[in-house]
Amino acid sequence: MLSRAATATLTAATHGSDGSDTVATLTAAAHTAGQVATVLLIVTAAVTFYLFTCLIWPFGKCRRCKGVGKFKSPFGNAFRHCGKCEGSGLRVRLGRHVINHMRAVRGAGQNSTSKGDKR
Ligand SMILES: [Zn+2]
Repeated sequence: MLSRAATATLTAATHGSDGSDTVATLTAAAHTAGQVATVLLIVTAAVTFYLFTCLIWPFGKCRRCKGVGKFKSPFGNAFRHCGKCEGSGLRVRLGRHVINHMRAVRGAGQNSTSKGDKR
């Protein structure tokens, strides 16, 4: 589960910058198994830290309304709520979606186990 999240983050990171260059540097740097392990450890630590921040600060600013939650009319004081965040101005961060998914999966597992225990 965690490795899947790590892969997703890695893919996002390589897409963000010059992809081919980063991959070439990574393969050149990671020659021995020890170096691969070090890179994996750093990536795991970074992903864990990111997920931890998403646990404490689950929300970011809505990207469409920039956290305001509404769009003002150019005329008078009229405004409408942002459709994407429904007026809250909040956006659930990507890592929090991952945490919620993990919790849902774990909860489903526990439910099936408890059913088995009752029998
Ligand atoms: Zn919004």
